[in-house]
Amino acid sequence: MPVLEAATKKVFHNNYYESIAGEVDNVPEWQVQIYSDENARHLRDLTSNMVGKLICVPGIITSASRSSIKATKITWKCSACDHTYSQDLKFGFGGAQARRQCANATAPISTDRSRCPLDPYRVVAEKCKFLDQ
Ligand SMILES: [Zn+2]
Repeated sequence: MPVLEAATKKVFHNNYYESIAGEVDNVPEWQVQIYSDENARHLRDLTSNMVGKLICVPGIITSASRSSIKATKITWKCSACDHTYSQDLKFGFGGAQARRQCANATAPISTDRSRCPLDPYRVVAEKCKFLDQ
């Protein structure tokens, strides 16, 4: 809101420069109020296609925080040989841990592939599934 009020003050100064004798200090303070004709939607009527859009919800805000995400399925990929595997996670606060050794670590080494190091797995975020909490 302070940004909107500062912008309103600047627009007023730009449009009525002559009437206030060019002094920035003569610009009155403004209070901006956001108003919408949109019908209020109940929280239970919200759907995923409304994410990222400005909507009107009835009620009083008592606290606000950022949503946190939790992975429900993680896909790991070996940085040496591109071996991938998926891991389903249970609900709760527990974290996930990758295998320390690649599944191909014991495979015979060929000329086009070197030995996979210890802790080679990295998360492939595009192939993971997340949940908003
Ligand atoms: Zn590997």
